[in-house]
Amino acid sequence: MKPAGIVRRVDQLGRIVLPKSLRKRYKMNEGDPVEILVQGDHIILERYYPRCVFCNSIEGVVEFKERYICSGCLGEIK
Ligand SMILES: [Zn+2]
Repeated sequence: MKPAGIVRRVDQLGRIVLPKSLRKRYKMNEGDPVEILVQGDHIILERYYPRCVFCNSIEGVVEFKERYICSGCLGEIK
């Protein structure tokens, strides 16, 4: 990880604004889901992709009864 050279202040509701340059660079548009990850003392924002409930994979994930499962785990169940 390297600093982006950008400092923003958290507002009274806990919000921060992602700079337009970063939104453009990472193709983040209004309404896109973003996942908040924590690694040690760091808070990381990532584009959200549904993860398999069994193995945490994001590859080949399909929805089943409001949960997500990957094709690998689905194959093991069958
Ligand atoms: Zn899986």
